[in-house]
Amino acid sequence: MYQDLLLLARTIEYTPIGIVVIRTDGKVHYVNHFAEQMFNRSRDAMLGKIIDHSISDFKGQVTWEEIWTAMLQGELTEASVVIEPEGKDAIVCKVQAFYIEGNESFPDSLALIIRDMTEDMRITEQIEKKNLEMAKMNSELIRSNAELKRVSEMKSNFLSIASHELKTPLTSIKGYSDIIIDNMKDKLDGGIYRMIESINRAADRLHKVVNSILDVTRIEQKRLRLKPEVLDMSMLINDCIEELAQFSLKRNITFTCSIQDSLPSFYGDKMRMQQVFTNLFSNALKYSPDGSIVDVRVTIENGDRFHIIVKDTGIGIDKSEQKNIFDPFYEIGNANRHSTGYTNFMGGGTGLGLSIVKGIVERHGGRIWVISEGVKPDSFLGSEFHITIPVQAEIHWDDDETKALYIERLEPHTDHTEESELMAHIDIKPIILFIDSDREAVEIARMVLENAFDILVAETGEAGLTLALKHRPSIILLDSYLPGLDGYRLCRILRTQDETRETPIAFFSAGTQNDEIQKCFASGADDFIVKPFSGRELVDKIWRILMKKKEEETFK
Ligand code: ADP
Repeated sequence: MYQDLLLLARTIEYTPIGIVVIRTDGKVHYVNHFAEQMFNRSRDAMLGKIIDHSISDFKGQVTWEEIWTAMLQGELTEASVVIEPEGKDAIVCKVQAFYIEGNESFPDSLALIIRDMTEDMRITEQIEKKNLEMAKMNSELIRSNAELKRVSEMKSNFLSIASHELKTPLTSIKGYSDIIIDNMKDKLDGGIYRMIESINRAADRLHKVVNSILDVTRIEQKRLRLKPEVLDMSMLINDCIEELAQFSLKRNITFTCSIQDSLPSFYGDKMRMQQVFTNLFSNALKYSPDGSIVDVRVTIENGDRFHIIVKDTGIGIDKSEQKNIFDPFYEIGNANRHSTGYTNFMGGGTGLGLSIVKGIVERHGGRIWVISEGVKPDSFLGSEFHITIPVQAEIHWDDDETKALYIERLEPHTDHTEESELMAHIDIKPIILFIDSDREAVEIARMVLENAFDILVAETGEAGLTLALKHRPSIILLDSYLPGLDGYRLCRILRTQDETRETPIAFFSAGTQNDEIQKCFASGADDFIVKPFSGRELVDKIWRILMKKKEEETFK
């Protein structure tokens, strides 16, 4: 028993918590070793004395005297205090009190259990500080994210507007050079003719770049619409290889192709899927040395998705670059390398191709990635591009499929019926009314069409309406962007007038997105001609619209 008490006394004495017992008169009755250290005073200096000014309320709102009295009266059991030991730094402590009833050997007392909270406070303070910093950083991140989003939207809008604006002058360059190439070969000096051909090719290339920029902005703005149809993967891939044959032959690069038997057909956008494969194949050509092999493999994985691998033995792609190459405008190495040769070795390009490919693949519910051992001087480690496309993708296709298919039926056919044959079905020289503020485009159209048509031109919607009602043209070609009364509204008005209710109306527009096309049809148009157009396309389309009209009238 005595031993146990001794053990208990020693435990209390040396426990790492301060213990002070105070009599009801406020004088110290017992101090353990840890409390001595806390107050930096010897036991002898404290026993029988009142604890003085070296202890105070943590918040400085009440005095120690008040705390102590409240504890004694049982009104307070816990308090945060600051102890300021002589010659040492102050410490923050939590004091808990409990009453000990006395007996004949010792008086009634209050035991104070004192815990040093300085370190905990410091950690809490640090955590709070860190939390505050994090909150600040978070709000800054949110702000800069919003700013980034705004800038990115501005960039997309800028690109979109710039591209549309580029299309208008391109119409002139393409249109005039087409006319010269088609009609003036004999009249021109050979050198000049070749220059014009160069201009024409440059316009085609620029048109491709503009379309790529528009595609990228559509993908970024999640506006890439798909025109679904049942597709044959094997045919798609073979056609794309075939299309590049002249370039691969020139560079003596062989395409080997192994396609798993009896692949299922799938639902996809033909033009967009062709864009995917043409891009990958021309990249494989572009970054492979002459005489090498590009291997294309298609298998079905797990019975539910196509796995296409395009493997080249070209320059390879550094591992650190492999993620970035799918970003718009990203080109490895020297940006000055932009060359005009889309399939020349290391020809360079716009850096847009793979980002468009990725956008299209993902829009079809698929995935794209690249595997390459990297780049090594004087050796060709090659690259493997992998694509998966689900056989049955759960895709939100264009809501207006019928319109999309309808447009397709109206596209000019490849087996051109002779114009004269078509002319035979049209009795008199028809009148075409152009309502377009783009004078250059109208001028080109005039040059192409004036032999076969009488041409009227209006530069505003209002003037166009007057001419249409007065002259009752055989066909109206209308730009959607007109100052004042815009094309869509004008078209709706024309459809309500007796004079023009049945007149074929086709829109001229630089926009090719289905929503724009749908707007044209919704306002009552019969067809849509995309700018920049070639003279041949324009003539073909106009005759077809007129023929269709004639047929409809015959069968009425
Ligand atoms: P670009 O029009 O410049 O070829 P892409 O978006 O198609 O743009 O490709 C981005 C970059 O990825 C290219 O500039 C090229 O450095 C790299 N790259 C693409 N395909 C290959 C390939 N098959 N082999 C090596 N590098 C490639």
